[in-house]
Amino acid sequence: MPRHTVAKIDLDALRHNYRLARERAGDAIAMAVIKADGYGHGIRAVARALAAETDCFAVACLEEALAIRDEGLPHTVVLLEGVHAAEDVASCQRLGLEPVLHSHHQTAWLTQASARPRSWIKVNSGMNRLGFAPAELTEVMARLADADCPVRGFMTHFAAADEADNPATEAQTRCFQQAVAPWPEAELSVGNSAAHFRVGQPLFDWSRPGVMLYGASPLPEQMGTELGLKPVMTLESELIAVRTLNPGDAVGYGQTWIAERPTPMGIVAIGYGDGYPRHAGTGTPVWVKGRRASLIGRVSMDMLAVDLSAAPAARPGDRVELWGERIPVDEVARWAGTIGYELLTGVTARVPRLYHQSGRNA
Ligand SMILES: *Cc1c(COP(=O)(O)O)cnc(C)c1O
Repeated sequence: MPRHTVAKIDLDALRHNYRLARERAGDAIAMAVIKADGYGHGIRAVARALAAETDCFAVACLEEALAIRDEGLPHTVVLLEGVHAAEDVASCQRLGLEPVLHSHHQTAWLTQASARPRSWIKVNSGMNRLGFAPAELTEVMARLADADCPVRGFMTHFAAADEADNPATEAQTRCFQQAVAPWPEAELSVGNSAAHFRVGQPLFDWSRPGVMLYGASPLPEQMGTELGLKPVMTLESELIAVRTLNPGDAVGYGQTWIAERPTPMGIVAIGYGDGYPRHAGTGTPVWVKGRRASLIGRVSMDMLAVDLSAAPAARPGDRVELWGERIPVDEVARWAGTIGYELLTGVTARVPRLYHQSGRNA
């Protein structure tokens, strides 16, 4: 009998969220960002589910692109970090992948290779993570042209698109537009999920929604559901023990939580070994028997404790939702001092992903 800890994945919700991204992208086309194993949802299933919705996937690295090709999907695949070794250039050509070049060593691999995959150029407009400075573009483009390496367009990434009042996004947009102005034929791509919710933000030819596809919020002050998104992953487990604590009884490692009154308590079969955040402390909500209950004490590797005062009828075998339809992943993330992205991508391989669509298992 397998453990009852599972991540249920709603593929209809995934498609709903992609359609919302497409709508919000306006005249831009939304490339579906499915790196990091589809933000923890399983890259193969996510790619299959979105195959009829999108023409273009974006991933971080070659291994992720291989998974898409392995599924027999012919879509354009953009490698957001480009290639990591000279020999990857030939793989890009063979598999029809489009690397994003961000550094001179990558352009050298490309110009010296016999393969000539179509590529994108990353422009550093202020994120200062990857990309060429605007002043370097003329030289980079000339080198690529000399070597007959086709360039599809330019890309840049926003550092603070989730902060409504931060002028950095406008400044980055202006910097990017000026930098690429000499190449009017090039296709342009900006825009993570947060940028889709900025009023008046141009997204040019291609936007790149990631986390919003999975129903988590890219904005710090709003939950995904408030943005019209539907949760895709519901992380569930089960009560495996229930007891009543006496006043003075402590719970778990470090005995950090002590009962003040007789308290019904349950143990849930999930912990940080499954990707549930250990930083989620006492008070973090969980859903039990139609009620919100609270986590108490420290999260263990395979278990956590909940105060069942709000659901005193709960018994071993009852299902518990850690996040998903009832408890927004964004809310749990807040309790754990992090963002939904980290929780979704952090669900470990021990947790089976169960897919469903149109009311049936998929
Ligand atoms: C991950 C990533 C995205 C998607 O970001 P979200 O905030 O998840 O929407 C877009 N562009 C680049 C370059 C990325 O690395």
